[in-house]
Amino acid sequence: MNKAQLKKIKNTILKKETLVFDKLNKSQKTQLFKFNESYKDFLNQSKTEKKAALQIVQMAKAEGFVDIETLLTKQSKQANKVYKIFQGRCVALAVLGKEPLLSGANIIASHIDSPRLDLKQNPIYEDLSMGLMKTHYYGGIRKYHWLALPLALHGTIITSDNKPIDITIGEDPDDPVFTVTDLLPHLAGKTQANKKISEVFQGEKLNLLSGSIPLGEEKEKDRIKLHLLNLLFEKYGVTEEDFISAEIEAVPASKARDIGFDRSLIGSYGQDDRICVYTSLMALLDRHDKYRQRTSIALFFDKEEIGSEGSSGAKSNFLEDLISDLLYINGQDTDNRTLRKTLINSSCLSADVNAAMDPDYKDVHEALNAAKLGFGICMTKFTGVAGKSGSNDATAEFVGKIRQIFNENKIVWQTGELGKIDQGGGGTVAKFLAKFGMNVLDCGPAILSMHSPFEISSKADVYMTYLGYKAFYEKNNS
Ligand SMILES: [Zn+2]
Repeated sequence: MNKAQLKKIKNTILKKETLVFDKLNKSQKTQLFKFNESYKDFLNQSKTEKKAALQIVQMAKAEGFVDIETLLTKQSKQANKVYKIFQGRCVALAVLGKEPLLSGANIIASHIDSPRLDLKQNPIYEDLSMGLMKTHYYGGIRKYHWLALPLALHGTIITSDNKPIDITIGEDPDDPVFTVTDLLPHLAGKTQANKKISEVFQGEKLNLLSGSIPLGEEKEKDRIKLHLLNLLFEKYGVTEEDFISAEIEAVPASKARDIGFDRSLIGSYGQDDRICVYTSLMALLDRHDKYRQRTSIALFFDKEEIGSEGSSGAKSNFLEDLISDLLYINGQDTDNRTLRKTLINSSCLSADVNAAMDPDYKDVHEALNAAKLGFGICMTKFTGVAGKSGSNDATAEFVGKIRQIFNENKIVWQTGELGKIDQGGGGTVAKFLAKFGMNVLDCGPAILSMHSPFEISSKADVYMTYLGYKAFYEKNNS
């Protein structure tokens, strides 16, 4: 066998790994950087699930989407681009296709919530003449990531007369911020050495430093706490009891930033999973009208980080309600059988991040099956822990179909597993959609420092994920 023959064999049978930047021409690279500027803006405007939901709806409205409720109650005439928002926390966008919905939709499902520190319902207290607020962390965090960091507050307080008061403090450069203090290294040794991380960093110590000026005479008790509450009363008209009916989230106060001399990476809070939210949203909004055979749906769920529970999570009936509404406005039967068949005939990409291999922690991955930064959108056939437990294990047939769509549309893709076998693991919304009988595949970019206050993505992967999702919406026909 000569060299040329060997080369031909290699080219034919070996799987190639492609760095996205090797595949793009100059104008595509310009497009890539432009796309990522808008992505950073989206991240900065969407620090909480409610703000993300609001952004999605605003962007959809600007593209002519109408609230599905107005069609159901006959306030609007027919429309084929609709949105549905539930409790302000869970959103769906749909573009109706020319085929009857019963033949199935192309669905991309992501989640708009991210790990954070929530204020407790009785948050404000004082200690050592400092005003503090107690938090309860939400989602999987490494607690020490949240120490000695400027944090912003976002949320809503419902007052005793049922008035919602929206609060955002810490995002404007002139705003004050809040922080969780940490022990100095000089004194940490004896207290923390030889202890387990879980013992050193405790949830009950994630308290936000919030002030230090007293109100009233020296003999008064809890004067700092009183001063904080008085400031809140003067500015927002809220009392201590109002925090019982409040959702206030502490999130990193920083903005999304470029990383590296070449500006090829993005560091930001909340990229899991707003990276998939933005790319699937743009894929739907930019989907070319000539590929309108099948209905396209983008789902944006809340509560994924705490197990997809609750009325706005993927375990809820939101998708069934949406499909039932869509069948109704489309003039089709809305009986249970039609609903079930529509769901079974649908295909879904569960849009969530995977863990990219970290140069400093390679040993938690198995190199042959780990995703890498910059190598495109990642197809994850299964997630789960131990023996794939708790995972949606996509069928080979559906993976094959998506792979074919990606290859035909020059999407740079890779595959990944969430770490080595028995190393740990995790899950996504995939299994909650698969229960309806539809094909579901986990598919999204891989990131570094996942669930930290500063998660890292590759701009190349962001762009390729957008193109991959767009190809799925446009080209998946069954
Ligand atoms: Zn996620």
